[in-house]
Amino acid sequence: MTPPERTRFERRRADWLDYAEARRRVMELAGPVDVERVPVDDALGRALAERVTATATLPPWDNSAMDGYAVRAEDLAHASREHPVRLEVVAALQAGEGSGAGVGPGQAVRIMTGAPVPPGADTVVRVEDTDAETHPGVVSIFEARDRGRHVRRAGRDMVEGETLLAPGHAITAGTVGLLAAAGCASITVYRPPSVAILTTGNELRSADRYDDVRAGGGIPDSNGPMLAAMVRAIGARPVFLGIASDSAPDLTRRIERGSECDVLVTVGGASMGEADLVKRVLEDLGYEQDFWRVRMRPGSPFGLGWLPRGGSARQPVFGLPGNPASAFVTFEVFVRPFLLALAGHARHARPTVRCSSTEPIDTPAALTYFQRVRLSRGSDTVLATLTGSQGSGLVSGLASADGLAVVPAEIERIDPGDELDVMLLDGAWADASGSAV
Ligand code: AMP
Ligand code: MG
Repeated sequence: MTPPERTRFERRRADWLDYAEARRRVMELAGPVDVERVPVDDALGRALAERVTATATLPPWDNSAMDGYAVRAEDLAHASREHPVRLEVVAALQAGEGSGAGVGPGQAVRIMTGAPVPPGADTVVRVEDTDAETHPGVVSIFEARDRGRHVRRAGRDMVEGETLLAPGHAITAGTVGLLAAAGCASITVYRPPSVAILTTGNELRSADRYDDVRAGGGIPDSNGPMLAAMVRAIGARPVFLGIASDSAPDLTRRIERGSECDVLVTVGGASMGEADLVKRVLEDLGYEQDFWRVRMRPGSPFGLGWLPRGGSARQPVFGLPGNPASAFVTFEVFVRPFLLALAGHARHARPTVRCSSTEPIDTPAALTYFQRVRLSRGSDTVLATLTGSQGSGLVSGLASADGLAVVPAEIERIDPGDELDVMLLDGAWADASGSAV
């Protein structure tokens, strides 16, 4: 006898890939989208799509690192307070001026930081070690400690023709400084991908319908805003498709609206519940599944596949589980590195730090566990403490997590003092670092 419609569960083939294999399958298919030229002022956070080469030598000439006197080291030989060396001051040089006639034996040139060191000089004596020309035109030097020092050599920073930056480099504020120094006004970067985000579930309420949540009539859609923020945090463009009800026509309409985006992320409706329609709707749209289910916790019902998009083009589709911690973790470990690769970044992995656990952690199943932790500084190690209960339906610990402790499948239990690898999240450690440096 066929069971009544409303109690039927989906039976689906699960791949149960190892975490490492799933990650490999995701990254295998990630390549940069395309490139565009932008002003350097708009390039922050993008990945370079060109090799940047120095077209000038910097500094262009030897220049002074101090305010003082440019002299010949040999003239200083035995200078002391008792027996100062007296030199004739033949010129004064500011930054931005030519290097002048030069410094002969027994001569000095008054020089400011950044000014070219005149020919003949190999030393700049700091003004504090001189009498600063008590008698104009003659400087007395009291110290020989600066012999051979305070000259910044031409080409120390960059030499014309040298490669400064390679494609894939993430543009930081420091990079913008270097690009400006290299004379770049605009630069070729990779285009950040657009990411359509679809949350699903009749129970979900957006912030403007929060009264329903207060009245016990709904669940807040925390994943939609959270995932949009995670997309934005890496410089990609979120396109929110809204909250779909658990109905095939609504799901279809919204998924089709996202078809112009580089990537589609669906959230929820991915397990085996009777209302888990997402997979069926995708299949009707021509979905090809790469895999579904990973040996990890939270996040095991994660899936990857493709929708056809005209010709040979395909839209990658990430199916994230609906529980907030599961959505967070699977975005972090699969979608984020994939999007960074699409955005042309050479580095996609979060940095990890070896930590010591402050408490026992049970990880009995043969799954890779991702535990939300806070970090603090111990006497000789970094300490990791769970943010609280690790239930996958809980949102509260997400805001305080500095990182995700990654516990490999073969480890069943962590005892206090055991070592752990922790992937650092954005803003990691803001509190634990103590005072500002
Ligand atoms: P599902 O994968 O649709 O079965 O959802 C699993 C659990 O996650 C259910 O308790 C849902 O209510 C919850 N959930 C699904 N989507 C969201 C979302 N966008 N925001 C918050 N919770 C969600
Ligand atoms: Mg659902």
